[in-house]
Amino acid sequence: MLKLQSKIPEGPLAEKWSNYKSNQNLVNPANKRKLDVIVIGTGLAGAAAAASMAEMGFKVKSFCYQDSSRRAHSIAAQGGINAAKNYQNDGDSIYRLFFDTIKGGDYRSREANVYRLAEVSNEIIDQCVAQGVPFAREYGGTLDNRSFGGALVSRTFYARGQTGQQLLLGAYQALSRQVKKGNVEMYPRMEMFNLVIVDGKARGIIARDVITGKLERFSAHAVVLASGGYGNVYFLSTMAMGANVTAAWQCYKKGAFFGNPSFVQIHPTCIPVHGEYQSKLTLMSESLRNDGRIWVPKKLEDAKRLQNGEIGGADIPEEDRDYYLERRYPAFGNLVPRDVASRAAKERCDAGFGVNETGLAVFLDFRDAIQRLGKDVIEAKYGNLFQMYEKITDHNPYEVPMMIYPAIHYAMGGIWVDYELQTTIPGLFATGESNFSDHGANRLGASALMQGLADGYFVLPYTIQNFLAHEINTPRFKTDLPEFEQAEKEVQEQLEKLMAVKGTMSVDTLHKKLGHIMWNYVGMARNKEGLEKAILEIADLKKEFWNNVNIPGELNDLNVELQKASRLADFIELGDLMARDALNREESCGGHFREEYQTGEGEALRNDKDFTYVAAWEYKGEDKEHVLHKEPLKFEYIEVKQRNYK
Ligand SMILES: Cc1cc2nc3c(=O)[nH]c(=O)nc-3n(C[C@H](O)[C@H](O)[C@H](O)COP(=O)(O)OP(=O)(O)OC[C@H]3O[C@@H](n4cnc5c(N)ncnc54)[C@H](O)[C@@H]3O)c2cc1C
Repeated sequence: MLKLQSKIPEGPLAEKWSNYKSNQNLVNPANKRKLDVIVIGTGLAGAAAAASMAEMGFKVKSFCYQDSSRRAHSIAAQGGINAAKNYQNDGDSIYRLFFDTIKGGDYRSREANVYRLAEVSNEIIDQCVAQGVPFAREYGGTLDNRSFGGALVSRTFYARGQTGQQLLLGAYQALSRQVKKGNVEMYPRMEMFNLVIVDGKARGIIARDVITGKLERFSAHAVVLASGGYGNVYFLSTMAMGANVTAAWQCYKKGAFFGNPSFVQIHPTCIPVHGEYQSKLTLMSESLRNDGRIWVPKKLEDAKRLQNGEIGGADIPEEDRDYYLERRYPAFGNLVPRDVASRAAKERCDAGFGVNETGLAVFLDFRDAIQRLGKDVIEAKYGNLFQMYEKITDHNPYEVPMMIYPAIHYAMGGIWVDYELQTTIPGLFATGESNFSDHGANRLGASALMQGLADGYFVLPYTIQNFLAHEINTPRFKTDLPEFEQAEKEVQEQLEKLMAVKGTMSVDTLHKKLGHIMWNYVGMARNKEGLEKAILEIADLKKEFWNNVNIPGELNDLNVELQKASRLADFIELGDLMARDALNREESCGGHFREEYQTGEGEALRNDKDFTYVAAWEYKGEDKEHVLHKEPLKFEYIEVKQRNYK
């Protein structure tokens, strides 16, 4: 059995990354321009990586399926990005950011990776400020920041509620500069469908021009995946509608292991589901929990009246409100991590205290903050979020409390990578949300942007050189090699197979069915019986999909339904793997809550003795069992404890 090599450098924790950088192989400037790198994705991870590598002199081919790289899903990020700058002088440090992240991830991530992440977090802010990212500032001109869940310090840098958008504009500018200089070739509206491996190394891709439907071949010395997360496996999520798993899944099928697929994040502050025909959920940023207080009624009869629309939240007097997070977790209150806040909301709603017509909502109330700070202050901090909420729900959150409920938001699982961000396929790297990442079983808020940009600006541009340094004598590849032909044939056959089904069910109907299975059995709470049921139901759904999906339009044309169908085919297979991974992990841990494993107080109960490992799955072929490999996690610098936010 293949042994997973995490390649964690020797030496003390705080010196590992500098030791690595001092000893790794570098490529000399004259050789850099002889080397090509393909980057899939132009979100923060991909844009940062492409811009940085091109700035260094490598020749980069940058792909995304949107009409512009600026439309990558990263643009949606609202709340902010973490860094251990300690501007507030409230006791922050690199070690504390490292500690909070490891603890927040429920001790299921690598110490060395997380320490490196905390270390480079400060460089990210400097880099982005230099690019002109308009972070919020204090009166005196220094950068402002705010608190996010899972931390007792204020370390989240933000640009109103548009942090992702502003960071992406910064990265996009850097990318555009390299396009002009000729170091980046941009391929928008090109969807990667297959990976090409030559002599055991990743050497290219097959992509489909989404406008003409034409398949094209691209070669390079290395391929970087920055293709984002897979939350849309649940159909309803906060993700961009087009977000998918296809690029990662095709790499999985070609030999890249998949890490911790069942670790997905459920975000506590989304606008509740309001109808069967909804296709998207909207997030209200976690930053709102700084000033908003979360509550449900204390009395069941009040909850019933709210559910029947007889009264509103403002009609319930203070003494009859249950601020359940402040009650259960006095130390962190409303700023407990997302998994904890989500489960607590579910617990109250399951007990009948939900506040909307479906009973699946709790209040997020700004009444006290407006009284204390004034409406102007709240508007300056969260104005665009309030406006967005009002546009969607037709309720004015300055006057009535918002209603929120947990929803799928982020994938902590993804392609397994070593310390160098290299997958189990040499020459294939994965960054940002597409890799299984540094977040363990739960991502703390504001740390995905940090990880994407850390990978893109500061980690991959170094680590990829350790691989590329051995490739300087490898000439540029022609795409007429048999490996390219075979990979293209595989894609062509799969697309033709899809078009040939000519069934009666729309892609969205089938996707919604998958979403229901995933949410009901592989969602906020999981158990053995439910997971086994999910595996059987997904197998039935797979048959139904391949027998009855209806894809109108043509193969060689702009065909959005074909794009969606092909993504759904991959989501169905991923859903099965997620259920199997969740079934294997007989413990509760971060976003993975197995009902059989909980404390008397309903908190997640980890099993460190048996499950302190990364589950890295290997694909063995259609209808064959996936094989589980275990990367043991060693904690040398921190004590592994039961998480406590009380
Ligand atoms: C509403 C919302 C708010 C958020 N707020 C925050 C926040 O405040 N702070 C925080 O830290 N995180 C936040 N996040 C999470 C964060 O935004 C994401 O984790 C992060 O932006 C992912 O970046 P990425 O570069 O890895 O991928 P993405 O930004 O998802 O980019 C993926 C790229 O891959 C491309 N791609 C995918 N598949 C293919 C393919 N087959 N072929 C070609 N191209 C492909 C896409 O075109 C796109 O360019 C938020 C997420 C959401 C949904």
